Amino acid sequence: MATQVPVTQLPEASKPAHQQTPAKSAAVKSKKKLARRIEKDYSAIYRRSFQAVFLLLNVWIGTQFYFWVRQYEGGAGSVPVSRPAGVEGWLPIAGLMNLKYWVFSGEIPRVHPAARFLLLTFLSMAFLFRKAFCSWLCPIGTISEYLWRAGKQLFGRNFFPPRWLDLPLRGLKYLLLGFFVWAISTMSAMGIRDFMQSPYGLIADVKMLNFFRHIGETGLIVLGVFVLASVFVPNFWCRFLCPYGALLGLTSWLSPMKIRRNPEPCIDCAKCAKACPSNLPVDKLVKIQSVECTGCLECVVVCPAENALSMSLPQLLMPKKRRMALPAWAMAAGIAVLFLSVAGFAKATGHWNSPIPDAVYQRLVPNADQAAHPMP
Ligand code: SF4
Ligand code: SF4
Repeated sequence: MATQVPVTQLPEASKPAHQQTPAKSAAVKSKKKLARRIEKDYSAIYRRSFQAVFLLLNVWIGTQFYFWVRQYEGGAGSVPVSRPAGVEGWLPIAGLMNLKYWVFSGEIPRVHPAARFLLLTFLSMAFLFRKAFCSWLCPIGTISEYLWRAGKQLFGRNFFPPRWLDLPLRGLKYLLLGFFVWAISTMSAMGIRDFMQSPYGLIADVKMLNFFRHIGETGLIVLGVFVLASVFVPNFWCRFLCPYGALLGLTSWLSPMKIRRNPEPCIDCAKCAKACPSNLPVDKLVKIQSVECTGCLECVVVCPAENALSMSLPQLLMPKKRRMALPAWAMAAGIAVLFLSVAGFAKATGHWNSPIPDAVYQRLVPNADQAAHPMP
């Protein structure tokens, strides 16, 4: 899927520099003089702050949603709270269905309307800033990163499967995405509306919560395997299995914004490739086209050379063919503005909160286990 641009075809030089023989790497290094970066790089501070804020936001939304469900179930722990619409960020399939319904019927969907706005936000983000949702906002991406960083601290390194295994494993997320896209493509707009208004569609979020509340032995084992694998393989879930990440990756492939390396000031130290959690050979490419690039800027943070590496637009889009690098603060501001403006617009126009009457939830939530999937 990735179209990458090698700067050299020599077999040894085509490997990431950290995989080359020491003599070769040293020889390459010695050819260039380092013009050291002077300005401090704040990318990591911005990104990790965004990750922490969004993790806390999701904990808050999850907690409020739990108490919202408990109030319909009655019993201990029942506190009157309103339904947090942000929980629909966890319903990307509903978001995709709503998007199709909106395009084909011209009507704003009534059930899980926020899911569509959030999906649109994250797709736009992928087009503008690569898969920044995965490395800046997604709580699963954040927890995955905490796990592989812990693994690196404990064992001194992380691991990637060999290429012959890595490629088919990475393909799994596209198979999952393909299945969901195929299922939605077979549904008419009216079919989607009926599905969303079925008991299952109305409380899909409650069913998801209940899955984790009443997780069985098999579910716990699978979850445990994912957690353990994430300690060793950076972003195990995101890299191999997340269909949402696959969709955002495909969208990001169209983005004009990419990590670009300028071979002239670059001293071929390979620090960028070593730092890349997606295992991309940044030091050997002039442009990172790969759908696996999450826009995390970890490669930019470690690069010691002035103007060697940046997230930037192609030269041909810029006046006088100058490369326009996107500073980390501008990327952070862009992500925040995009998220807040779309959510704010949906709220201001009354399309954020679902207008489903309380009486419907009162009937459905306590009997969520009986709401079966309406499709055969
Ligand atoms: S380290 Fe650089 S190339 Fe690797 S995923 Fe992050 S932004 Fe992309
Ligand atoms: S882009 Fe920067 S980090 Fe990567 S090899 Fe060149 S100088 Fe080193």
